[in-house]
Amino acid sequence: MNLEAYRVRPRESVRLSHWNTDDDGGLSKQRGQALLLDLQEQLAELQERLYAEGQQALLIVLQARDAGGKDGTVKRVISTFNPNGVQISNFKVPTEEERAHDFLWRVHARVPRSGMVGVFNRSHYEDVLVTRVHGLIDHATVERRLKHIRAFESLLVGARVRVVKFYLHISPEEQRQRLKARLDDPDKRWKFNFSDLEERSYWAEYTAAYEAALTTSTTSAPWYVIPADHKWFRNLLISQVLLHTLKEMNPQFPTPTFNAATTTFQNE
Ligand code: AMP
Ligand code: MG
Repeated sequence: MNLEAYRVRPRESVRLSHWNTDDDGGLSKQRGQALLLDLQEQLAELQERLYAEGQQALLIVLQARDAGGKDGTVKRVISTFNPNGVQISNFKVPTEEERAHDFLWRVHARVPRSGMVGVFNRSHYEDVLVTRVHGLIDHATVERRLKHIRAFESLLVGARVRVVKFYLHISPEEQRQRLKARLDDPDKRWKFNFSDLEERSYWAEYTAAYEAALTTSTTSAPWYVIPADHKWFRNLLISQVLLHTLKEMNPQFPTPTFNAATTTFQNE
Protein backbone atom coordinates (compact mmCIF):
# COMPACT_ATOMS: atom_id res chain seq x y z
CA MET A 1 0.00 0.00 0.00
CA ASN A 2 1.30 3.44 -0.87
CA LEU A 3 1.20 5.34 2.41
CA GLU A 4 2.39 8.53 0.77
CA ALA A 5 -0.96 8.88 -0.97
CA TYR A 6 -2.59 9.44 2.43
CA ARG A 7 0.01 11.82 3.87
CA VAL A 8 -0.50 15.57 3.77
CA ARG A 9 2.64 17.21 2.39
CA PRO A 10 4.13 20.19 4.20
CA ARG A 11 2.53 23.40 2.88
CA GLU A 12 0.00 21.42 0.83
CA SER A 13 -3.47 22.94 0.95
CA VAL A 14 -6.00 20.17 1.37
CA ARG A 15 -9.50 20.12 -0.07
CA LEU A 16 -11.13 17.30 1.86
CA SER A 17 -13.78 16.84 -0.82
CA HIS A 18 -10.96 15.54 -3.04
CA TRP A 19 -9.98 12.86 -0.53
CA ASN A 20 -11.79 9.53 -0.54
CA THR A 21 -13.74 8.39 2.48
CA ASP A 22 -14.59 4.92 1.18
CA ASP A 23 -11.24 3.76 -0.20
CA ASP A 24 -10.55 0.06 0.45
CA GLY A 25 -7.14 -0.15 -1.21
CA GLY A 26 -8.59 -2.60 -3.72
CA LEU A 27 -8.65 -5.27 -0.99
CA SER A 28 -11.42 -7.50 0.27
CA LYS A 29 -12.35 -7.17 3.93
CA GLN A 30 -11.14 -10.71 4.53
CA ARG A 31 -7.75 -10.03 2.97
CA GLY A 32 -7.48 -6.75 4.86
CA GLN A 33 -8.12 -8.48 8.16
CA ALA A 34 -5.53 -11.15 7.42
CA LEU A 35 -2.95 -8.48 6.60
CA LEU A 36 -3.77 -6.71 9.84
CA LEU A 37 -2.95 -9.80 11.91
CA ASP A 38 0.52 -9.94 10.44
CA LEU A 39 1.09 -6.23 11.06
CA GLN A 40 0.00 -6.54 14.66
CA GLU A 41 2.75 -8.97 15.45
CA GLN A 42 5.35 -6.61 14.05
CA LEU A 43 3.84 -3.62 15.84
CA ALA A 44 3.91 -5.40 19.18
CA GLU A 45 7.55 -6.34 18.73
CA LEU A 46 8.64 -2.82 17.84
CA GLN A 47 6.71 -1.38 20.77
CA GLU A 48 8.53 -3.75 23.09
CA ARG A 49 11.82 -2.46 21.73
CA LEU A 50 10.69 1.13 22.16
CA TYR A 51 9.81 0.42 25.79
CA ALA A 52 13.04 -1.46 26.48
CA GLU A 53 15.17 1.20 24.83
CA GLY A 54 13.51 4.01 26.78
CA GLN A 55 15.10 6.76 24.72
CA GLN A 56 12.26 8.05 22.54
CA ALA A 57 8.46 8.22 22.56
CA LEU A 58 5.66 8.04 20.02
CA LEU A 59 2.66 10.36 20.16
CA ILE A 60 -0.39 9.33 18.13
CA VAL A 61 -3.01 12.04 17.62
CA LEU A 62 -6.54 10.93 16.68
CA GLN A 63 -8.97 13.48 15.35
CA ALA A 64 -12.32 12.94 13.66
CA ARG A 65 -15.88 14.11 13.54
CA ASP A 66 -18.36 12.47 15.89
CA ALA A 67 -18.69 8.74 15.14
CA GLY A 68 -15.57 9.01 12.99
CA GLY A 69 -13.94 6.00 14.64
CA LYS A 70 -11.49 7.34 17.23
CA ASP A 71 -12.72 5.01 19.95
CA GLY A 72 -12.83 2.08 17.52
CA THR A 73 -9.22 2.79 16.57
CA VAL A 74 -8.14 2.65 20.19
CA LYS A 75 -10.07 -0.59 20.67
CA ARG A 76 -8.87 -2.33 17.51
CA VAL A 77 -5.44 -0.85 16.71
CA ILE A 78 -3.91 0.58 19.86
CA SER A 79 -4.93 -2.58 21.74
CA THR A 80 -2.18 -4.38 19.82
CA PHE A 81 0.36 -2.74 22.08
CA ASN A 82 1.26 -3.90 25.58
CA PRO A 83 -0.95 -1.67 27.79
CA ASN A 84 2.01 -1.22 30.13
CA GLY A 85 3.70 0.95 27.53
CA VAL A 86 0.68 2.98 26.44
CA GLN A 87 -0.85 6.12 27.87
CA ILE A 88 -4.23 7.12 26.47
CA SER A 89 -5.58 10.62 26.97
CA ASN A 90 -9.16 11.57 26.17
CA PHE A 91 -9.57 15.32 25.87
CA LYS A 92 -13.03 16.56 26.79
CA VAL A 93 -14.53 20.02 27.20
CA PRO A 94 -11.88 21.84 29.27
CA THR A 95 -12.54 22.10 32.99
CA GLU A 96 -12.51 25.44 34.80
CA GLU A 97 -8.92 24.73 35.86
CA GLU A 98 -7.87 23.90 32.30
CA ARG A 99 -9.56 26.98 30.88
CA ALA A 100 -7.67 29.11 33.33
CA HIS A 101 -4.41 28.11 31.57
CA ASP A 102 -3.12 28.41 28.01
CA PHE A 103 -4.62 25.84 25.63
CA LEU A 104 -1.49 23.67 25.48
CA TRP A 105 -1.11 23.33 29.24
CA ARG A 106 -3.28 20.24 29.71
CA VAL A 107 -1.95 18.70 26.51
CA HIS A 108 1.74 19.14 27.30
CA ALA A 109 1.21 17.40 30.64
CA ARG A 110 0.00 14.27 28.80
CA VAL A 111 2.87 13.96 26.34
CA PRO A 112 4.35 10.44 26.71
CA ARG A 113 7.66 9.99 28.48
CA SER A 114 10.54 8.16 26.80
CA GLY A 115 9.75 4.57 25.97
CA MET A 116 6.01 5.14 25.88
CA VAL A 117 3.36 5.32 23.21
CA GLY A 118 0.95 8.18 23.90
CA VAL A 119 -2.47 8.36 22.30
CA PHE A 120 -4.47 11.58 22.15
CA ASN A 121 -8.15 10.76 21.60
CA ARG A 122 -8.96 14.36 20.57
CA SER A 123 -6.18 16.78 21.26
CA HIS A 124 -4.90 20.35 21.13
CA TYR A 125 -6.50 20.48 17.68
CA GLU A 126 -9.94 20.79 19.32
CA ASP A 127 -8.83 24.30 20.21
CA VAL A 128 -8.79 25.26 16.52
CA LEU A 129 -11.81 23.11 15.58
CA VAL A 130 -14.85 23.09 17.88
CA THR A 131 -13.93 26.51 19.30
CA ARG A 132 -13.53 27.96 15.82
CA VAL A 133 -16.74 26.42 14.44
CA HIS A 134 -18.76 27.88 17.31
CA GLY A 135 -17.17 31.30 16.97
CA LEU A 136 -15.60 31.16 20.43
CA ILE A 137 -12.31 32.44 19.02
CA ASP A 138 -11.64 34.92 16.22
CA HIS A 139 -9.61 34.40 13.08
CA ALA A 140 -6.46 35.97 14.49
CA THR A 141 -6.61 33.58 17.46
CA VAL A 142 -6.95 30.59 15.14
CA GLU A 143 -3.86 31.69 13.22
CA ARG A 144 -1.92 32.33 16.40
CA ARG A 145 -2.86 28.93 17.81
CA LEU A 146 -1.87 27.14 14.62
CA LYS A 147 1.55 28.80 14.93
CA HIS A 148 1.83 27.72 18.56
CA ILE A 149 0.84 24.17 17.60
CA ARG A 150 3.58 23.99 14.98
CA ALA A 151 6.13 25.28 17.47
CA PHE A 152 4.88 22.90 20.18
CA GLU A 153 5.11 19.84 17.96
CA SER A 154 8.55 20.91 16.79
CA LEU A 155 9.61 21.16 20.45
CA LEU A 156 8.37 17.59 21.00
CA VAL A 157 10.15 16.23 17.96
CA GLY A 158 13.35 17.86 19.21
CA ALA A 159 12.85 16.06 22.52
CA ARG A 160 12.63 12.72 20.68
CA VAL A 161 8.85 12.46 20.73
CA ARG A 162 7.80 11.30 17.31
CA VAL A 163 4.40 12.79 16.39
CA VAL A 164 1.95 11.20 13.94
CA LYS A 165 -1.52 12.62 13.39
CA PHE A 166 -4.57 10.93 11.91
CA TYR A 167 -7.70 12.56 10.60
CA LEU A 168 -10.33 9.83 10.24
CA HIS A 169 -12.26 10.92 7.19
CA ILE A 170 -15.91 9.78 6.92
CA SER A 171 -18.70 10.89 4.59
CA PRO A 172 -21.83 12.63 5.88
CA GLU A 173 -23.84 9.54 4.88
CA GLU A 174 -21.60 7.26 6.89
CA GLN A 175 -21.89 9.54 9.91
CA ARG A 176 -25.67 9.57 9.54
CA GLN A 177 -25.74 5.76 9.54
CA ARG A 178 -23.48 5.47 12.54
CA LEU A 179 -25.43 8.02 14.58
CA LYS A 180 -28.67 6.33 13.54
CA ALA A 181 -27.29 2.97 14.70
CA ARG A 182 -26.55 4.55 18.06
CA LEU A 183 -30.18 5.57 18.32
CA ASP A 184 -31.65 2.30 17.08
CA ASP A 185 -29.42 -0.28 18.73
CA PRO A 186 -30.03 -0.51 22.51
CA ASP A 187 -26.44 -1.68 23.01
CA LYS A 188 -25.09 1.41 21.28
CA ARG A 189 -27.49 3.93 22.72
CA TRP A 190 -25.13 4.89 25.52
CA LYS A 191 -22.87 6.40 22.87
CA PHE A 192 -25.61 8.62 21.48
CA ASN A 193 -25.22 12.27 22.26
CA PHE A 194 -27.71 14.95 21.22
CA SER A 195 -24.90 17.40 20.66
CA ASP A 196 -23.58 15.14 17.88
CA LEU A 197 -26.68 16.06 15.82
CA GLU A 198 -26.05 19.73 16.41
CA GLU A 199 -22.37 19.36 15.44
CA ARG A 200 -23.41 17.48 12.33
CA SER A 201 -25.30 20.54 11.11
CA TYR A 202 -21.95 22.39 11.02
CA TRP A 203 -20.46 19.94 8.52
CA ALA A 204 -19.06 22.56 6.14
CA GLU A 205 -17.65 24.69 8.96
CA TYR A 206 -15.83 21.66 10.39
CA THR A 207 -14.49 20.84 6.94
CA ALA A 208 -12.98 24.33 6.68
CA ALA A 209 -11.57 24.10 10.21
CA TYR A 210 -10.02 20.68 9.53
CA GLU A 211 -8.53 21.88 6.26
CA ALA A 212 -6.77 24.67 8.16
CA ALA A 213 -5.62 22.26 10.89
CA LEU A 214 -4.14 19.93 8.28
CA THR A 215 -1.76 22.70 7.18
CA THR A 216 0.28 21.87 10.29
CA SER A 217 1.53 18.73 8.57
CA THR A 218 5.33 18.65 8.54
CA THR A 219 7.87 15.99 7.71
CA SER A 220 8.47 15.26 11.38
CA ALA A 221 4.84 15.67 12.54
CA PRO A 222 2.77 14.55 9.54
CA TRP A 223 -0.98 14.37 9.14
CA TYR A 224 -2.51 11.38 7.44
CA VAL A 225 -6.04 11.57 6.04
CA ILE A 226 -7.44 8.09 6.62
CA PRO A 227 -10.43 6.95 4.55
CA ALA A 228 -12.59 5.72 7.42
CA ASP A 229 -15.96 4.66 6.02
CA HIS A 230 -14.69 1.05 6.13
CA LYS A 231 -13.58 0.35 9.66
CA TRP A 232 -11.36 -2.58 8.67
CA PHE A 233 -9.52 -0.45 6.10
CA ARG A 234 -9.08 2.37 8.61
CA ASN A 235 -7.53 -0.12 11.06
CA LEU A 236 -5.25 -1.56 8.43
CA LEU A 237 -4.02 1.77 7.11
CA ILE A 238 -3.38 3.26 10.55
CA SER A 239 -1.50 0.09 11.54
CA GLN A 240 0.64 0.39 8.43
CA VAL A 241 1.48 4.01 9.12
CA LEU A 242 2.37 3.15 12.71
CA LEU A 243 4.57 0.31 11.56
CA HIS A 244 6.32 2.58 9.07
CA THR A 245 6.81 5.20 11.80
CA LEU A 246 8.14 2.75 14.38
CA LYS A 247 10.51 1.24 11.83
CA GLU A 248 11.89 4.70 11.11
CA MET A 249 12.32 5.32 14.83
CA ASN A 250 14.28 2.08 14.86
CA PRO A 251 14.28 1.38 18.62
CA GLN A 252 16.97 -0.98 19.88
CA PHE A 253 17.16 -3.22 22.92
CA PRO A 254 19.74 -1.65 25.24
CA THR A 255 23.17 -3.26 25.33
CA PRO A 256 23.68 -4.95 28.69
CA THR A 257 26.21 -3.33 31.01
CA PHE A 258 27.28 -6.79 32.20
CA ASN A 259 28.56 -9.96 30.59
CA ALA A 260 25.59 -12.33 30.44
CA ALA A 261 27.83 -15.31 29.59
CA THR A 262 29.92 -15.06 32.74
CA THR A 263 27.18 -13.98 35.11
CA THR A 264 26.32 -16.68 37.65
CA PHE A 265 23.80 -17.00 40.46
CA GLN A 266 25.37 -16.65 43.88
CA ASN A 267 25.57 -19.76 46.09
CA GLU A 268 24.12 -22.02 43.41
P1 AMP B 1 -16.34 12.74 23.24
O1 AMP B 1 -15.00 12.67 22.58
O2 AMP B 1 -17.45 12.25 22.40
O3 AMP B 1 -16.35 12.17 24.61
O4 AMP B 1 -16.69 14.29 23.43
C1 AMP B 1 -15.80 15.18 23.99
C2 AMP B 1 -16.32 16.58 23.72
O5 AMP B 1 -15.37 17.50 24.24
C3 AMP B 1 -16.46 16.90 22.25
O6 AMP B 1 -17.71 17.48 22.00
C4 AMP B 1 -15.34 17.89 21.99
O7 AMP B 1 -15.64 18.80 20.98
C5 AMP B 1 -15.19 18.55 23.34
N1 AMP B 1 -13.87 19.14 23.50
C6 AMP B 1 -12.69 18.51 23.53
N2 AMP B 1 -11.67 19.40 23.63
C7 AMP B 1 -12.24 20.62 23.64
C8 AMP B 1 -11.73 21.95 23.70
N3 AMP B 1 -10.42 22.18 23.78
N4 AMP B 1 -12.59 22.97 23.68
C9 AMP B 1 -13.92 22.73 23.62
N5 AMP B 1 -14.48 21.51 23.55
C10 AMP B 1 -13.65 20.47 23.56
MG1 MG C 1 -18.89 11.83 20.94
